[in-house]
Amino acid sequence: MIRKLEKFLNSVYGIEASLIKLSGYDDLNFLVKVDHKPVYVLKLSQGVPIAFFEAQQKIFRILDNLDDYLFPRNVADKDGNPFHRYDDSYIARLLNYIPGKFIAEIPKNKSLLDSFGRFLARMDKALFDHHDPLVESRYNPWDIRNFPEIRNKITQISDPHLKKLIHYCLVQYDLKVKPELPDLRRSIIHNDANDWNVLADGEKIIGIIDFGDLAYTYTINELAIACTYMAMDSKDPVSAILPLIQGYHQVLPLMEKEISILYYLIAARLGISLTMSFLTKKKDPGNQYVGIHEEMASHLMEQWFAIHPQRAEDCFRQACEWASTGKRETAGFAVKRKKFFSKALSLSYERPIVMDKAAFQYMYGDYDKTFVDCVNNIMHVGHAHPEVVEAGQRQMAILNTNTRYYYDSLSNYAEKLLDYFPKKLNKVFFVNSGSAASDLAVRLARNYTQRKDLIVMEYGYHGNTTTGIEISHYKFGGKGGSGAEKHIHVAPIPDTYRGRYKEDDPEVAEKYAGDIDPFLSHKIAAFICEPIVGCGGQILLPDGYLKLVYEKVRRAGGTCIVDEVQTGFGRVGSHFWAFEMYDVLPDIVILGKPMGNGHPLGAVVCTEEIATAFENGMEFFSSFGGNPVSCEIGIAVLKVIESERLQAHAGEIGNFLLEQFNSLKKRHSLIGDVRGTGLFFGIELISDQNTLTPATSQAYHLINEMKSLGFLLSTDGPYNQVIKFKPPMCFSKKNALSMIQAFDNLLPSL
Ligand code: PMP
Repeated sequence: MIRKLEKFLNSVYGIEASLIKLSGYDDLNFLVKVDHKPVYVLKLSQGVPIAFFEAQQKIFRILDNLDDYLFPRNVADKDGNPFHRYDDSYIARLLNYIPGKFIAEIPKNKSLLDSFGRFLARMDKALFDHHDPLVESRYNPWDIRNFPEIRNKITQISDPHLKKLIHYCLVQYDLKVKPELPDLRRSIIHNDANDWNVLADGEKIIGIIDFGDLAYTYTINELAIACTYMAMDSKDPVSAILPLIQGYHQVLPLMEKEISILYYLIAARLGISLTMSFLTKKKDPGNQYVGIHEEMASHLMEQWFAIHPQRAEDCFRQACEWASTGKRETAGFAVKRKKFFSKALSLSYERPIVMDKAAFQYMYGDYDKTFVDCVNNIMHVGHAHPEVVEAGQRQMAILNTNTRYYYDSLSNYAEKLLDYFPKKLNKVFFVNSGSAASDLAVRLARNYTQRKDLIVMEYGYHGNTTTGIEISHYKFGGKGGSGAEKHIHVAPIPDTYRGRYKEDDPEVAEKYAGDIDPFLSHKIAAFICEPIVGCGGQILLPDGYLKLVYEKVRRAGGTCIVDEVQTGFGRVGSHFWAFEMYDVLPDIVILGKPMGNGHPLGAVVCTEEIATAFENGMEFFSSFGGNPVSCEIGIAVLKVIESERLQAHAGEIGNFLLEQFNSLKKRHSLIGDVRGTGLFFGIELISDQNTLTPATSQAYHLINEMKSLGFLLSTDGPYNQVIKFKPPMCFSKKNALSMIQAFDNLLPSL
């Protein structure tokens, strides 16, 4: 092909030259050397109308007036034509060669970025009043304005993580960018100022090539695109692009509205870039140029959502020398809190956080801070997960009713949920909270057995209803509690670290199970416990314990209830339900928290016999339980757990963390015990290895210090001596490493 093209150049342009193939996205590009020096670039394009090249030519002429910069110019052939057909299917154009280095190839410093900003602004200013019907009517998928169209393409993305991030960008674009669009400036822009199109001489920008993406769009998109590429490969992507914004603003002043959406426009451009490269690679696996930014773009996307959008906006505003948007005072919250609420509602941390927004494992609060959420297991598949958000939005706009009617969502959800259970557990009641579920579970057990007494777990917690408190030793046995009622029997917690029988006792399970023997002479309706006792300090039950207890309870005519509110839905990694770790089959299972990813959703799953016995004439009805919106959200949560392989991910990260926490334990005597599985851990702090004195104040101090380092954790256990770790399931290995590092740094100072 090269030989043929060289002949073509000779016959049509009268140029004696040698060609070298260059890379390109759509066009075929060749460097044209005359006397061994680069003089032109030959471009062969397919499927682009000549009229578009004419439009480009008009733009080149306008830009030619910018004396300090170089832009492409069409070189006419021997007959004065700027364009030529080549081989029937191509249009050939010869452009002047612009010297300099691509900014992708040089270190990006302040002065280069400032020069880049000024250059872009000069170009945009020059084109600001130029109109061209063809450019204005042309559809360009790379135009950020067309980002919403990406929605139709993301279903083809097979990487669930990437798909999730792009989907999130789409949801945020609708929410944050769309409402501002009517007030924004529009003009023709270059629309692809990426670092392989922009040329510099030293620290000064000298020109730009490739006007193939010209678009009539929101002027700010020009800057947003440049920012996207300049933010890549940087530790602090927001700070990295400030000189670019500043330089641009000095020449073509930005509007506050434009700056207010810049964060989301950058996310949108990343979304477009990643989708396009994914899809092009799928179609054309050999195309090297396509993936040129892919790795850096996906890394930036990860980094981007760890940045509070408010922090980004404020930094961008500073670059424009505008005042910050203004911090909200926490004092106002404290006053209203006191005015409207009882002190029985507690707050986390010495200085409570004002929360603004959250994405996946990140929470944005206290005006401009980002916190890694290491404790909110309710947000199971991640905060604001786009599939869950949209499932709710969609169904809310279609139908919301109750279980007194037939509708697909209810049975669909029931079928999907029950699929995760052993066959014997085949009936479900939907409610709106873990508390409502545990309340109902007790009713079901009492109704089935026609008995009242219950064996509950020491430090167990099951809910805030009257029954919930009655069965939660953590509450009735704790501060303000009035002790166990007559019919409630408390099984000592089988804590193999702090309890009476220790881990190394070969009969530890038998001994703890034996503790319930005295209660079996009562008419026991049920034994209820969590498979890992959360409020007890994340206590895993010793191997064989639950099996023995279930046998004893059943022999005595009782039922077995397991509370999976904290531990269910794959969190423990090895199994979908934590009870499965112990090889037991409960009669009744309580579900809540993660089930709706923050939407109030709870359920009781039980055996056929228990459900049938409940058909005693008294109707069971929950106004909200099982409504179509809740069901669609529940289905979306299950779908995401599967598509993102979150259970396996919990297992992998959990194993890694177990190693890391154990190595911390070797180095820090404050750590007495590390226990957990998957993404459910307890780190017990002690101040004396011999007496196991609980390090309560150190634990409190630790979570407050970790908060200031950007990690949200909580304490629990009988002395609030245990650090609880139970993050959204998308918590990454990188998050794990930085959290461990923070622990490592802090522990010696406590
Ligand atoms: N069971 C357990 C094990 C829980 O942790 C909780 C809540 N912390 C509940 C039940 C009650 O759930 P909810 O707060 O949704 O009523």
